[in-house]
Amino acid sequence: MIYFVGAGPGNVDLITVRGRNLLEKADVVIYAGSLVSQEHLKFCREDCAVYDSASMTLEEMVEVMVEGYRQGKSVIRLHTGDPTIYGAIREQMDALDFRGIPYEVVPGVSSFTASCAVLNREYTLPGVSQTVIITRLEGRTPVPREEDLESLAAHKCSMAIFLSVLHIDEVVEKLKKGYGRDDVAVAVVYKATWKDQKIIRGTLKDISRKVHDEGIDRCAQILAGDFLKGIGERSFLYHPEFSHGFRDGRKG
Ligand code: SAH
Repeated sequence: MIYFVGAGPGNVDLITVRGRNLLEKADVVIYAGSLVSQEHLKFCREDCAVYDSASMTLEEMVEVMVEGYRQGKSVIRLHTGDPTIYGAIREQMDALDFRGIPYEVVPGVSSFTASCAVLNREYTLPGVSQTVIITRLEGRTPVPREEDLESLAAHKCSMAIFLSVLHIDEVVEKLKKGYGRDDVAVAVVYKATWKDQKIIRGTLKDISRKVHDEGIDRCAQILAGDFLKGIGERSFLYHPEFSHGFRDGRKG
């Protein structure tokens, strides 16, 4: 069987129990060496065959998967964070579908939730925003025109921007235009949950300079929105005057 497993954002304890159990039994593991902690491999059997996807083409990866499947082996493709977000798994799944090979996707903790967690914040604050936009700047991978950062920012929601810290100046310019002001709170989280994690807080006015000063140009989340300020209205869910299926409100 083939498994696409989310390794989580960094810290090895942030993989799911299902993911760890599968890793412990795997015959073959293909992992993204540049982004997934080597420490995960300590949980693999000694005779487990390990491949680093960094030096492999899609065709080579598929070949390893197909060969493993034909030999009745358990093959894991270990992805950083959650495999369904910027994981490029669709092309791998298509190749397996084409050959009629079954597989399962095991979700993981994405770096966008891990980054919010290390900041002790919540994206969906009542009265601030009830929507999170996950996006990126255009790189070698194009972004549809309707999803340009400036037009997304015009919704004034909470935002998590992947794969873009190298171009922080451009991100800031687009966010300023979209939000229509420059005092929007921004945090850049470099390598959330890794030992060398760094957190930089600021606003659209000063975040670029701070990011340049720290020399951060990769592996970071840019979070933007006033949810970072942490001041919102109280949620109704735990409000004494609000009743729901499991609790009667005092006033009905
Ligand atoms: N599937 C992954 C994302 C892969 S794309 C996920 O769900 O997190 C790689 C990008 O994710 C990086 O450029 C960076 O923007 C972000 N990223 C991955 N791990 C990160 C981490 N530990 N801290 C901050 N950003 C991270």
